[in-house]
Amino acid sequence: MLIDFSTFQQRADAVHQRISELCRAARRDAKEVRLLPVTKNHPVAAAEYAARYGFSAVGENRVQEAVEKRALIIAPLRWDLIGHLQSNKAKLAATHFDCIQSVDSEKLLNALDRAAGELGKKLAILLQINAGNDPAKFGVEPADAPRLLEVALTMSHLKVDGLMTVAPQSEDPEIARRTFANLRTIRDELTTRLGAPLPELSMGMSGDLEAAIAEGSTLVRIGTALYGPRI
Ligand SMILES: *Cc1c(COP(=O)(O)O)cnc(C)c1O
Repeated sequence: MLIDFSTFQQRADAVHQRISELCRAARRDAKEVRLLPVTKNHPVAAAEYAARYGFSAVGENRVQEAVEKRALIIAPLRWDLIGHLQSNKAKLAATHFDCIQSVDSEKLLNALDRAAGELGKKLAILLQINAGNDPAKFGVEPADAPRLLEVALTMSHLKVDGLMTVAPQSEDPEIARRTFANLRTIRDELTTRLGAPLPELSMGMSGDLEAAIAEGSTLVRIGTALYGPRI
């Protein structure tokens, strides 16, 4: 069961408040941090709540699920893919998403560039980096990131906005903090080396928001703190 809209509203207000407080503590401007509601595993009403509250985008982790929901919703929303994408679904993803945050291979870059070209659109992407060196996580290994970015920058139908990471599951908040600090360092090195600005750092979820904001996140992907546990 999905929560009701007024509960969602209260939670969204509370998460914004928490982001403001964390930004103040980190001496950052709260306007630098965008909140992306993650609607995966929830009914389409979750995305409707987001639109009604005033969010401009939502995140989904599976292509098919998002395609089905998007067909049912009238409100104008941008859709971000935050879950793993296989190259054979690149065309479908490029058709239905406004940003692919989970790009982690040259094969996928090629498939997305071709698909975006066919669709006549310039597709925003983030490169997903396994910044926590977690064998259980997707994402390109940090050592391979420069090569992947180099290739990404040659793609005429893709626009590389920045980097994304998912921290390893851990009881120790320092693990997330180190992962996020690592992503920021990787971004800074890539910017210096290849001259790409990479302004977006998509890092932080309900459980590791504090560490993410302290380390420079510009985009936090929040599901549970807004919608409650997933079914
Ligand atoms: C599910 C998911 C989130 C949201 O996680 P919560 O802990 O529910 O906030 C964020 N990012 C990715 C990549 C996800 O798959």
